[in-house]
Amino acid sequence: MQTSESFCLTSPGKLPSDSGWSSAVLFETPEEIYQRVYRVLKPRSVPPPVKIRFEKFANANSFIRLNNGCLLVRITDLLAAAPAPITEALAFILLAKLFRRKAPPAFETRYRLFLNRRDMRNRAQLVRQQRGRKLCRGPQGDFYDLVEVFEALNSLHFHGLMARPAIGWSLVRSRTRLGHFDPSHNTIIISRVFDQSHISRLALDYVMFHEMLHLRHPVEHSGTRRCVHTKEFKAEEKLFPHFQEARLLLKNL
Ligand SMILES: [Zn+2]
Repeated sequence: MQTSESFCLTSPGKLPSDSGWSSAVLFETPEEIYQRVYRVLKPRSVPPPVKIRFEKFANANSFIRLNNGCLLVRITDLLAAAPAPITEALAFILLAKLFRRKAPPAFETRYRLFLNRRDMRNRAQLVRQQRGRKLCRGPQGDFYDLVEVFEALNSLHFHGLMARPAIGWSLVRSRTRLGHFDPSHNTIIISRVFDQSHISRLALDYVMFHEMLHLRHPVEHSGTRRCVHTKEFKAEEKLFPHFQEARLLLKNL
């Protein structure tokens, strides 16, 4: 769980118009696309040579950097077969980032819509499962046992019916990422900041309860929107006993 609700993206903007596509543009190589976009963003400079590599990242990230006068672009292999308009949108996003500018919203929208398609989400999830490693400690901490915490809440709030996922303490004592449910690995990870004698059980219970609700309320997708804390989620979260007191404890951690 994050202290803010930053997971929820803003509503999609206007879709880019594709009316300007000419046949020359349709048959560009990815390298040519990056050079064209470079010229659009920096009309007065000559675009450097571009090297593009598709890499087996554990997520859908891509990277760009200028190295010895050459533009190096490393793109997730999830996008290796993406259509040209998606490559173009990513080129705008990455090059704008390189120039510390904001990418045109139409391209952000186009790119997000593509990644949010069900088939792309499924492939991304598979890649995370196969390549990503979830690093955490076991559930038994110095002061609290997360399995005991989970099962106590399970019988109190879920009639003991919630199937227990893998549970562990985080490696670092994060104060910003207090808890986290990873659906790819079916794992709840709780920040080790809570495994200390002065931390109240109520705060820990609340964070665990929040992550348990993520098991119950899957992330909702529509268009570019990805909503983690849905209306139903928030309504059920408020049923937690001493909800306000618990929120206050987290604020003052
Ligand atoms: Zn959450």
